[in-house]
Amino acid sequence: MPLLARGAEDLGIRLDCRQIEQFETYFHELADWNRRANLTSVIDYDGVQTKHFLDSLTVCLAAGNPLPASTRVVDVGAGAGFPGLPLKIAFPDICLCLVEATGKKTDFLDHLTGKLRLDNVDVCHGRAEELAHEPALRESFDLAVSRGVARLSTLAELTLPLCKPGGTSVALKHGGVESELDAAGNALETLGGRIAGLHPVNVTGLLDNRVVLRVDKTGPTPDRYPRRPGIPTKRPL
Ligand code: SAH
Repeated sequence: MPLLARGAEDLGIRLDCRQIEQFETYFHELADWNRRANLTSVIDYDGVQTKHFLDSLTVCLAAGNPLPASTRVVDVGAGAGFPGLPLKIAFPDICLCLVEATGKKTDFLDHLTGKLRLDNVDVCHGRAEELAHEPALRESFDLAVSRGVARLSTLAELTLPLCKPGGTSVALKHGGVESELDAAGNALETLGGRIAGLHPVNVTGLLDNRVVLRVDKTGPTPDRYPRRPGIPTKRPL
């Protein structure tokens, strides 16, 4: 995994042999399962190292490096595990919850976390709009992470209710986020969030205008949010 190892060093993350082996296993399982379940369109060895694994690790630009032990992290709309699982491999002492609505994808996540022998990983099959009302999950996470799920006004409603007050939601985005930021003002105010940083990604292997967006949770989220499944997308706050 030379491209991953090099880029991770740019981020100040050193991966040991065991971690590199885990990423190799992740790559092979992803390629294997992708023949049956449509998990990702990026499946070549170089692309997976940079566009999936390394991109996932850029969460650190906004959330800190290393992520402290026992940090409770939730990945909302994890798909095939990005960005949550690469973070778990890089920082094995975090507690990770992977939220994903599609059963085929949670089957893959269950299989992979077993294969990688990861502890403190929960795979939650369901919609964030519903899971965020479960007392065990609501406002229980230090950090929510997400990639490729929704525009910020919708994403805020899916992630902030899961964050503790004082916690953080980090979203990986491709360039041109200004219009999203402008449109999200009301949602953030309603849900108890505040834009806390916009970090451009400058890492070997990832030079396509990526940004890491950090939203801090400054106050509690009113009980009625998130609204019913689909509403945050259909009628963003
Ligand atoms: N984060 C992954 C997947 C992005 S695709 C990656 O970057 O590769 C978006 C994923 O979010 C899909 O797998 C979809 O099923 C899931 N998703 C979308 N809305 C959701 C919701 N409200 N609750 C749970 N999962 C959701």
